[in-house]
Amino acid sequence: MCCSSSIERDKAMMGEPEAFDISAVKGMKFFDPHVHMTSRTTDDYQAMADAGVVALIEPAFWLGQPRTGLDSFRDYYSSLIGWERFRSSQFGIKHYCTIGLNSREANNESLAEQVMEILPLFIYKEGVVGVGEIGFDDQTAAEEKYYRLQLELAKEAGLPVQVHTPHRDKKKGTQRSMDIALEHGLDPYSVIIDHNNEETVKEVLDRGFWAAFTIYPFTKMGNERMVEIVKQYGSERIMVNSAADWGISDPLAVPKTAALMKMRGLSDQDIQLVTYNNAIKAFAQSGQLDESDFNAQIDLTEKFEGNTILRGGQQPRPDKSSIIIS
Ligand SMILES: [Zn+2]
Repeated sequence: MCCSSSIERDKAMMGEPEAFDISAVKGMKFFDPHVHMTSRTTDDYQAMADAGVVALIEPAFWLGQPRTGLDSFRDYYSSLIGWERFRSSQFGIKHYCTIGLNSREANNESLAEQVMEILPLFIYKEGVVGVGEIGFDDQTAAEEKYYRLQLELAKEAGLPVQVHTPHRDKKKGTQRSMDIALEHGLDPYSVIIDHNNEETVKEVLDRGFWAAFTIYPFTKMGNERMVEIVKQYGSERIMVNSAADWGISDPLAVPKTAALMKMRGLSDQDIQLVTYNNAIKAFAQSGQLDESDFNAQIDLTEKFEGNTILRGGQQPRPDKSSIIIS
C-alpha cells in the first residue's frame, strides 16, 4: 500500500497525467517505420491517423505459426504491396513495406530455398523500401546463410536493409549482424539495425549504422527508457517504432513516445527527428519513398481489385460510443 501510494504521489508531484492525451502531440506528424498492420484492425488505422501517423513501413515477418508452402509467402508478399497498402490509404496513411524471408522461417531450408527464388519478383515493386526484416532469431547456421544471401540481394537492388536482432543473446547477435553486413560490403548508412536497447545502442551508432528502437510493452523497450536514450545519445541516426503485431503491442507507440519526450523536456527538433525525419531519410535511400507522397487525399470511392473496405456502402466513421450499431 505504502509503495503504490508513494508512486502516485511522485507522479502527481511531477505533474504528469497517466493517460495519453492526444492534444499533447497535436499538429505533429509521425512515421512508424516498423508496424505489422496485417495483424491490426481498422480501429487501429483510425487511431493512428487521428494521432498524426501519416506514413508507415510494414516489414515482412512470420505469422505466429510456420507457413507450410511457398504460396503462403507469395500471397503474403502480394498483400503487403497490394491490399494492405490500399487499406492503409483509406485512412490517409501512406503505406510502404520491406520484403524478406524472416529469420525464424529461414530454418525451414527446403522452403527457404524456394522463397529466395521469388523474392526478386517482389523487392523491385513500387513502395518496397528495403529488404527486411531479416537477420537472426536463434542464431543458427541456416539463419546466417539466408541473412547473407539477402544482404547480397539488397546490395544488388540498391535497397536499405532492415535488420531484426534476436531477443536472446542480443548483444552478440547484434554485433554479428553488423559484422556480416560489413563483410558483404554494405554501407552501414544503408542498414537499419532494429530492436536496440541500452546494451547495443552505442556500438551500433559508433559503427555508423542506424539504430531503431521498438517500443513494445514488457519484452523490448519501454518509452521511459527511450527518453533517457535520446537524452544520452542525441537524435542522430536514431528512430522509434511500434513493431505492433498480433502480440500484445501498441500501434500508438510512436505518438505516445513523442508525447512523453515532450513532457520530459526533449526539444521539438529531437522529437521530430526520432519519430519522423530520420526514418524517412534512411528508407528514402531506396528511391521509393518521397515525403511529398504523404497526405494524399482519401478517396473512399477507390477500389482494390474491385474490393473496398466499405462493405455494402458503409460509412467510414461509425460512432463508436453508441450502443446502437446501425
Ligand atoms: Zn517485426
